[in-house]
Amino acid sequence: MNQVDLKIVKFGGSSLADANQFRKVKEIVTAEKARRFVVPSAPGKRSSNDIKVTDMLYTCQKLASEGADISEPFGQIRARYLEIANELSLSYDPSAALDEVYENLRNGATKDYAASRGEYLNGLLLSSYLGYQFVDAADVVRFDANGVLMMDETMTLMREKLGKLECAVIPGFYGADENGNVITFSRGGSDVTGSLVARAVSADIYENWTDVSGVLVADPRIVANAVPINTITYEELRELSYMGASVLHEDAIFPVRAADIPINIRNTNAPDAPGTMIVASDSAASDQFTGYTITGIAGRKGFCAINIQKAMMNAEIGFCRKVLSVLEELNISFEHMPSGIDTMSIILPEDAIHGREKTVLSKIRKAVSPDRLEIEHGISLLAVVGRGMRRTRGTAARIFAALAHARINVKMIDQGSSELNIIIGLLDGDFEEAVRRIYDVFVSSTITEQS
Ligand code: ASP
Repeated sequence: MNQVDLKIVKFGGSSLADANQFRKVKEIVTAEKARRFVVPSAPGKRSSNDIKVTDMLYTCQKLASEGADISEPFGQIRARYLEIANELSLSYDPSAALDEVYENLRNGATKDYAASRGEYLNGLLLSSYLGYQFVDAADVVRFDANGVLMMDETMTLMREKLGKLECAVIPGFYGADENGNVITFSRGGSDVTGSLVARAVSADIYENWTDVSGVLVADPRIVANAVPINTITYEELRELSYMGASVLHEDAIFPVRAADIPINIRNTNAPDAPGTMIVASDSAASDQFTGYTITGIAGRKGFCAINIQKAMMNAEIGFCRKVLSVLEELNISFEHMPSGIDTMSIILPEDAIHGREKTVLSKIRKAVSPDRLEIEHGISLLAVVGRGMRRTRGTAARIFAALAHARINVKMIDQGSSELNIIIGLLDGDFEEAVRRIYDVFVSSTITEQS
């Protein structure tokens, strides 16, 4: 790789959950001179049954808005920050900042203000610990009166401020409107802040540090020890995220993608692991061998199919349009529409028609007078994603042979024109096994062959 002069490093909540995690973060930041701008999240969970500070802040705001006393729940938030400051022997004492947040919450602060304080306070601690300048995100991330990010203004403000600094900590997740009212992104939004900073300062890499060693080929709750993906394109990531793989906040991709800045997902608890590089599809890095024909597998349960049958459907002009206009009229969006000569199915999320099934069916009946009409529940969609599929023959054959061997019935197949993914509809009960079988064929068997 070329010489890297400037990296943005964003740390997620679990990477900054306690003093020990702060120590790891400092080691990572100081290991490379290029790591000049740091974006922290609020302290996350220290163990699986712990509560994130952001959630505790939302609770305090809600209680305060109902007129309840928040001294006890706020006391727990205070304790978390004080413990970190004490254990790290910081010269900075966060007590005054904590008092101010407490008073503002008691006096009717907004939800966004409340939630943003998790990052704000963590940023103050981290800037003191690293000896980096603190830059309040409210001064450099600008939203309009409707809470929509103002990209150009944000870039200008960030460039003006950060251009003069050697190193800085900029808390994630929030900004402010022109009147100084604090506004947050949606949950997980510190990823977006990191991406904005990376773009503003034209970083060479945006490092996003979390608690897994990259984007995994499959959900580790389904495939134990699923391996990380070494290189993935933005397009592939979007396909996998859309199908349920939770990696980055969706809005974090656009700012860096437009500026051609790769994102490197890294693990704070395993800093030597290279993690996953997210790159543009036309970059040289995207040509690198991914290791397997496929890049990743993801999927979601909770879909249903509206199955429609009518003799001579193929000859009836406008049939599809009439069915789809029923959905449009009811403001229902669908995922897929596989069709035969006399049949068509519409696959859509269960919750899109929940409680409205009778209305949907009767309107379709009225619109196209089908011979048969039914709703089938309990369908999963599974996406096999990979830029390597375009140049490899037999990928579909391998996928479906694996499913056939496992006696899994395939209800739908959809391959997009980009040949970047194959979407498979299955019964919910077959979902996990299908993911494991496909993983085994493409990944486990390749690992065995290589070793
Ligand atoms: N702390 C915020 C949340 O829990 C934002 C973030 O961590 O990115 O959603």
